[in-house]
Amino acid sequence: MPDTVFAKILAGEIPADFVHEDEHAVAFRDVAPQAPVHLLVIPRKPLTSVAAAQEEDAELLGHLLAVCRKVARAAGLEDGGYRVVTNVGNDGGQSVEHLHFHVLGGRALGWPPG
Ligand code: AMP
Repeated sequence: MPDTVFAKILAGEIPADFVHEDEHAVAFRDVAPQAPVHLLVIPRKPLTSVAAAQEEDAELLGHLLAVCRKVARAAGLEDGGYRVVTNVGNDGGQSVEHLHFHVLGGRALGWPPG
């Protein structure tokens, strides 16, 4: 597991604008937002991506999605809708090797992604 920027955020070594913290996950604002609301939900467990998750991580993955729902709701996105996405590897466009879900909303989002 590489020493990523998200590991440093979890360790308190670099700051983040947290919107949620619990025993297993945290959520904070993306530093380069791609929509009026752009949050990142990450596990404290150092998994590189969803591809690295094992059967034993099923509950954690469910929890992360529940946190996505919670922070989206708190950000007022429920009525308009929003997107939850996780990028995996080079072709997926993943730039930080620590599992994270993007929660994007506040404008109409295009599909398909580039
Ligand atoms: P991805 O390209 O899917 O790996 O997403 C990584 C995301 O992390 C990008 O949207 C970046 O803008 C975001 N990011 C990188 N560094 C930070 C940071 N220090 N604080 C908050 N978000 C960050």
